[in-house]
Amino acid sequence: MSDPQISIVAPLYNERESFPHLVPRLNALMDASPLSIEVVLVDDGSRDNTAELMQQVALADGRYHCVFLARNYGHQIALTAGMAAARGTEGLFIIDGDLQDPPELLPKFYAKLKEGYDVVYAVRKKRKEGLLKRTAYFLFYRFMKSISYVDIPLDSGDFSLISRRVANVLNKMPEESRFIRGMRSWIGFKQIGVEYERDARAAGESKYSFKMLRRLAYNGIFNFSEYPIKFVSRLGMFSIGAALLYFIQTLIKKYVFGDVPEGFTATVFLIILFSGVQLIALGLIGEYVLRIFFQTKGRPLFVVREVIREQERLGDDLPVFSDEKVKASS
Ligand code: UDP
Ligand code: MG
Repeated sequence: MSDPQISIVAPLYNERESFPHLVPRLNALMDASPLSIEVVLVDDGSRDNTAELMQQVALADGRYHCVFLARNYGHQIALTAGMAAARGTEGLFIIDGDLQDPPELLPKFYAKLKEGYDVVYAVRKKRKEGLLKRTAYFLFYRFMKSISYVDIPLDSGDFSLISRRVANVLNKMPEESRFIRGMRSWIGFKQIGVEYERDARAAGESKYSFKMLRRLAYNGIFNFSEYPIKFVSRLGMFSIGAALLYFIQTLIKKYVFGDVPEGFTATVFLIILFSGVQLIALGLIGEYVLRIFFQTKGRPLFVVREVIREQERLGDDLPVFSDEKVKASS
């Protein structure tokens, strides 16, 4: 069998309740679609019988492929495993296994891919989740946007259709703490958002604990922003500035009004001043650590969209823009 055009990649962790809803929806989508589609399901070390259910489906239907991870590695790693296994020649459609991302949007996303976009990401218009979670997400995405050096779109998660070449670059990025929506933005090419309404879970409860969400948020902030360490340096400068102002104010008080208690000023001044000096020193060390940190990530330095060589330009034929020429260089 030749490779499918599209791979649908869905990670599953303890999705016993929602899995029986997922399969009929995917089947209906594949049956109706003119595209050749495979489904890559990743079991992220489920403790319930999700893995068995997956196996049953895969044995009965050749369009389903399963990857079973050795333990629970977390959603981002499970997705990474699924993307590595996916064979779709045109694109990878990344969805959650709990049907919060309606798979029926594939044709709409695919049309954009055909228009020449490499990343078609979903933008949530509405979330059907608790107020607390919605607010936290709302604030996080806006904070992230304001501090990140990559333009990460607002209110969009991993739900997306990515082209084969974007998947290839992602598969080549070895970074260990993964924030896939950030990495996806980092790559570049033409990207476009499509609005959708995020559904409620098909069944069961969220598998993302508060701790896991916090970790994801930290990965986003620390992997795509230098702001935290810059903030320390700025705090240090602020502190030194405050110390100097305080010093001037005290001098004026002493010589103009003559009402300053002896000894007190020098102590406070020195404390504020040297706190500032220490913060700046920390910030300086942080800058070095930051550079080491980004170096160890081992990201490609750039991604080439296309190359035109002299020969081709001078040759009789028009230049051919094929995907073979598009390679991630490291
Ligand atoms: N998931 C996973 N590993 C985990 C946690 C979650 O593979 O450790 C899967 C989960 O089964 C679901 C998707 O990731 O298909 C999104 O998780 P969830 O729905 O629990 O997160 P939420 O939508 O509540 O943010
Ligand atoms: Mg969910």
